[in-house]
Amino acid sequence: MNQLRILVVFVVSIICLPAQAAEIDLQKLVNEVHAQFANENSGKNPDYIPALAAVDSKLFAVSIVTADGKSYSAGDIKHELSIQSVSKAFNLSAVMQQHGETAIVEKIGVNATGLPFSSIMAIELNEERSVNPLVNAGAIAQVSLLEAKNANKKWQMIESNLELFAGRDLSVMKDIYKSETDTNTKNQAIARLLANYGRLYDDIEESVDLYTRMCSVGVNTHDLAVMGATYANSGKNPVTGKTVVEAKYVPKLLAVMATAGLYDDSGLWLYKVGLPAKSGVGGGIVAVVPGKYGIAAFSPPVDAAGNSVRAQLAIEEIAKRLNANVFQ
Ligand code: GLN
Repeated sequence: MNQLRILVVFVVSIICLPAQAAEIDLQKLVNEVHAQFANENSGKNPDYIPALAAVDSKLFAVSIVTADGKSYSAGDIKHELSIQSVSKAFNLSAVMQQHGETAIVEKIGVNATGLPFSSIMAIELNEERSVNPLVNAGAIAQVSLLEAKNANKKWQMIESNLELFAGRDLSVMKDIYKSETDTNTKNQAIARLLANYGRLYDDIEESVDLYTRMCSVGVNTHDLAVMGATYANSGKNPVTGKTVVEAKYVPKLLAVMATAGLYDDSGLWLYKVGLPAKSGVGGGIVAVVPGKYGIAAFSPPVDAAGNSVRAQLAIEEIAKRLNANVFQ
């Protein structure tokens, strides 16, 4: 009897070993990668939004959430950053749910701009004007496309969609929202230019305001990884178990991330890392490994394209060590 019990325990532990080892490895991985890049000091906080210049440049966090909802984090994981452009990749899902995948192509465009995220030239040079939902023009256009009874209802729609992805209540960081509202004249110009070309689909001021508010929503790095893991899990949030977006749309949403998620450096990113990802000038980046992980990192200093230096290095290293390149 005793021998049988020993045998059963032995067999069960062999079966469970790989799962346990994987869990331990992922925690070790985030710890190691965090330590590896904590002293990387290139890049600079963006200062065109004054409140972002004031954020502590040393902050650094790394987080992985698996497609079955396990989380591993290291560093300043409680720190709330403004989601900024990362929101664009998730708001697009709400727009796609409402209008379907073809409307995104016809009313916004899905090509790469190859130009900076706030480029006016990109609007002038491309007949689509807004070009891609993940640059400022396309993101203001996607906000304008959302249909709701009034601005308040539209805001609720935007916020609750981000909350479904993150799996918790979120709120606007008031200092960031005010700072960006006080200085967003270029985004106002972009919206007016789009309206001029018939490529803005709602009120100009309201669309810029809702877009600015969306960029000011506070999230931590773990939230970003849960959002990515929701895409990795075909649109179902693995932590809450709620379906946020229909699985059929996820490949389209990830394709858009691959073309413009890191703006004018999207090609370089895809070449080096091989994962769809989205960055924001708040210092956050989230990458998606379909079927497997959401990988997020945050640190305020950004490079010339507006992508966090430490976050790019951390995700690149994690992707390498997990063999996660989607093209291999
Ligand atoms: N809110 C920022 C802007 O409109 C977003 C840009 C970004 O994160 N790259 O400029």
